[in-house]
Amino acid sequence: MDYLASRRCPKPVTPPSGRGVFSGQSVIIAPVTNFSFQLIEKDKSTGARAGVMRTPHGEVPTPVFMPVGTQATVKTLAPFELEQMGAPIILANTYHLYLRPGSSLVASFGGLHEFMAWQRPILTDSGGFQVFSLGHLRRIGDEGVTFRSHIDGSEHLFTPERVIAIQEELGADIIMAFDECTPYPSDVDYNRKALERTHRWAERCLAARTRQDQALFGIVQGGMFPELRRQSARFLASLDFPGYAIGGLSVGEPKELTSSIVEETVPFLPEDRPRYLMGVGSPEDLLEGVARGVDMFDCVLPTRVARNGALFTRHGRRNVRNAAFKTLDEPIDQGCDCYTCRTFSIAYVHHLFRAEELLAYRLASIHNLRFLIRLMEEAREAILNDTFVRFKNEFLSGYRPTDQKVRLAQKQKWIEAQRRQ
Ligand SMILES: [Zn+2]
Repeated sequence: MDYLASRRCPKPVTPPSGRGVFSGQSVIIAPVTNFSFQLIEKDKSTGARAGVMRTPHGEVPTPVFMPVGTQATVKTLAPFELEQMGAPIILANTYHLYLRPGSSLVASFGGLHEFMAWQRPILTDSGGFQVFSLGHLRRIGDEGVTFRSHIDGSEHLFTPERVIAIQEELGADIIMAFDECTPYPSDVDYNRKALERTHRWAERCLAARTRQDQALFGIVQGGMFPELRRQSARFLASLDFPGYAIGGLSVGEPKELTSSIVEETVPFLPEDRPRYLMGVGSPEDLLEGVARGVDMFDCVLPTRVARNGALFTRHGRRNVRNAAFKTLDEPIDQGCDCYTCRTFSIAYVHHLFRAEELLAYRLASIHNLRFLIRLMEEAREAILNDTFVRFKNEFLSGYRPTDQKVRLAQKQKWIEAQRRQ
C-alpha cells in the first residue's frame, strides 16, 4: 500500500466536553463512556482472572503484558512488528514526551495514535515515577513537583492538573493519576505523608479531567507498609476509578516483599475493575502477579535486556553473545513462535551481536516481547480452561530466574544511564 495513502490524516484532539468540579471532598466526575472491563473467568484456587478491557481503540484481553514505548516508540521496532507479535496495547511515558517533542506538538498531529501510527490502545503513565527517579533538584510540595529536565536542565512544574492536561493532549486510551513514588527503603512517617498527598492529588486529577474518552486509573501507594497499602486501596476505591494500579513496587525491594504487598493490596480493590502492577516484567514475576489477581503489567526489562543480548527461554535467560552459541543451529527458544525464532538460528543472532549489527537489537526485542505476550496469552487460556495452577507450576519448575543481585545491579545501571541522557 502506498505510504502516503495509508497514513491517517491528522485529526484534532477531542474538544473538552464537560469539566469535573472539585470542591473539598465532593468530586463530580465526567462519566467515561468508551471504556469497560469485563471479568470473564476466575481461577478456583488462586486469584488469577481472565477478562477483557474495551477501549476506544479496541479490546485488550487480560492478563496482558504491555510493551513500553518510552519516546512514542518501542525501541528498535515498527508498529507493524508489534501488531504481528500480538501486542494488544502499548505504554508511552508522559514525562519523556512532555519534555520532547512536547505534548502540544503531539496534539497538533492528532494525538499519539496518529503521531506514531499505532491504532491499537495506548496507556500513558503520569510521569510521577520518572520525576522521582530521573528528575534533578526536585522540590515536592502540595501543589506539585518542581524538577529539572534530564535533557537540558530546564525547570518544570508537574501538578495533578498539569499532568492530566498533558495526558489529554497525548490522547491515550488509559491515563494515570499523578502520584508520589517513595524510594526504597523509606520510613513509615515519610510514606504516610506521601500517601496523603497522593490521595489529594488523585482527587485533583479526577476533577481536572475534561475528556470523556480516556479512562483515568488511580494508583495505590504506601511503600512496603501493608496497613498504608490497605488504606490507600480503600480510599481510592471510594473514588470509583475505572481501573487501579499498584505503584511504588519493583523499586529495589526483594521479590518476596513485592508479592506480599500485592497480596495485601488486591483484596481491597474492586473486583470489577482492572488491576495494573506497574514496572513488573520478568516472566516469573508476571505469573506470580497473575496468581494474585493482577490483570496488567508493563516493564522496560524485556527490551532493555534484549539489547544486551539477554534472551528469555523456557529455562531462564541466556546470553546470546556467549561463545557456546557460535555454531548452534537451533532457534533461541524451542517452541517459540516469534519471527526471530521462526526465521533464524541462534548462531546467526549471535553473529549479529558480535558484529554489533543493528538487526541484532530488533530481532532480540521481537523475541523477548513475544515471549512475555505469549506467556500472558497462555496464562489466560489456562485460566479459561481451569488449568492455571498446573500451567504456572510447570513453567516455574523449568524456569531459572536471574539472580536478584544481578537484576538489581542491572536496573541501577539503567537508571544511571537514563539520568545521563
Ligand atoms: Zn522467539
